[in-house]
Amino acid sequence: MLDDSVIRRKRTQQRERERALRRLVRDREKLAALSAGGSEERPIHVTSASVIEVRVRHLACPQCSGEYKIQDHRAPASGIRSVDVTCQICGVSRTLWFRIVSAEAN
Ligand SMILES: [Zn+2]
Repeated sequence: MLDDSVIRRKRTQQRERERALRRLVRDREKLAALSAGGSEERPIHVTSASVIEVRVRHLACPQCSGEYKIQDHRAPASGIRSVDVTCQICGVSRTLWFRIVSAEAN
């Protein structure tokens, strides 16, 4: 037999679990934004545009380790590429940033 306090406690636990889960998702997104390729300020360096999609295919979704599906590949500035991707498993969308650096430079 469940009295009100048991039901309330269960609801509270459920809410806390959901909150913890949301926090985890948010933290992973924050981490992804801070890691290489997560923002325009922190692009992944590549030696040519042709390797970008290969690199994307080797990256894993920070939420579920799923593979990305490339949605769009843009060149917002010279030497800068941004690739819109969607995780094939959890469906999260993000933009990955690349900077093309010449292998001969320096
Ligand atoms: Zn995912």
